Amino acid sequence: MKSDSVEPFAFIAVNDLVAITRGRSLPKSELNPTSGVGWVPADLALNAFGALADPNPFGALGDLRLIPDLTTKAVFRGKEYGRDVEIYLADQYTMDGKPWECCPRSNLKIAIERLRNDHGLEVVASFEHEFVTKREDGSSLPGSPFGLDSMLASEPFGSEVWDACVAAGIELENWLPEYGAGQFEVTMTPQGALTACDHAVILKELIRHVARENKLRATFVPIPHPDAVGNGVHVHISLTKNGKPFTYDPKGKAGLSSVAESAFAGVLDHAEGILAWTAPSQISALRLTPHRWSAGGICIGRQNREALLRICPIPSGSDPNKIFNVEYRAADATANPYLVMSCLINAMSDGLDRDLKIDQIVDDHVDNVDVPQLPATLNDAIAAFNANSVMQTWFAKDLIDTHLGIRASEEKTLAGLDGAAKCARYNEAY
Ligand code: GLU
Ligand code: MG
Repeated sequence: MKSDSVEPFAFIAVNDLVAITRGRSLPKSELNPTSGVGWVPADLALNAFGALADPNPFGALGDLRLIPDLTTKAVFRGKEYGRDVEIYLADQYTMDGKPWECCPRSNLKIAIERLRNDHGLEVVASFEHEFVTKREDGSSLPGSPFGLDSMLASEPFGSEVWDACVAAGIELENWLPEYGAGQFEVTMTPQGALTACDHAVILKELIRHVARENKLRATFVPIPHPDAVGNGVHVHISLTKNGKPFTYDPKGKAGLSSVAESAFAGVLDHAEGILAWTAPSQISALRLTPHRWSAGGICIGRQNREALLRICPIPSGSDPNKIFNVEYRAADATANPYLVMSCLINAMSDGLDRDLKIDQIVDDHVDNVDVPQLPATLNDAIAAFNANSVMQTWFAKDLIDTHLGIRASEEKTLAGLDGAAKCARYNEAY
């Protein structure tokens, strides 16, 4: 039985290149926030199925420290276990006390610094996550798309997710039944870029945990079956300068300030290569086809759910300066959130460096307009990344080699399986 008097575990965690949260625990009183806990470089080379990519740059050599960021604490309360588990997200450090060049969270910090130093801008962001719930026998919860019946059938799961997030300091905006069978979505309030990513990591783990406690399974697999509704990760982004919103200009193109226009033009310019990081599994591309309301073309559009970048509406009565934001729709939960954000911020910096402009605002269905298609396969996205000399500068070479090694190892593991069988394998992992 659970006892409140038992000292919690502190779990020092990293989110890795396949977006799985891994780490080490110790009794909370033993946690030394300065020296952290030990870690192994090759752990970064684990693929979604728990095998090490081979080759990888690290092999059996080296040591790291996981240094916890105490502000990220989230408590996982067990109904059935003796100890609570407090999760602390960590940065990976080398043994001489420097941020490790392959650490995703540290990589994002560099991207944030670049945008701040070169352009005086900060990103404010929020991740939207969709996921599917199943009962232990594999059946879906009953209910209709977006239905009150779906919402009520999920109780007390939904209430407990909400409460666990609030307790972890994650402010939610909406909890909603989605279109797919047993599919739900959670939206969070916007935060600074690093915190938004921390919350994305914690939110998914809390949802999985609360689901388990309710004898459900929550899966964030990008697409459970080639014919099924996809689970997207949409990233809402706005810009601030000196603490003031800087995305909106009523005279700008589709309401975008000239700064926002150049920044998002940078994202469009690098979109194909970015896909290799934001939708990096062997099934991610199955979700990113037209008519799925995911992302059906490399373009920016107003209120357009098939544009890669959706300019979100401004509800009447709200302050456009505060509310105006653009949504990147082509990420999924197999992607590391810090690296998703790092790609987007680096692309924005590059768009600003080059003073890029947006040629076309796509307000029509993407089928009716001549816009570039998203890469049809992950290997096409990887080829675009490999050919993109600017993107190569955003990551350490060992980080790139590990990322690509993981993709090759997953491709090899799944060789010969059809789409449905591949989806089933990822469904188990996420
Ligand atoms: N399920 C869609 C996706 O895979 C998103 C639907 C929506 O919320 O607009 O991205
Ligand atoms: Mg949705």
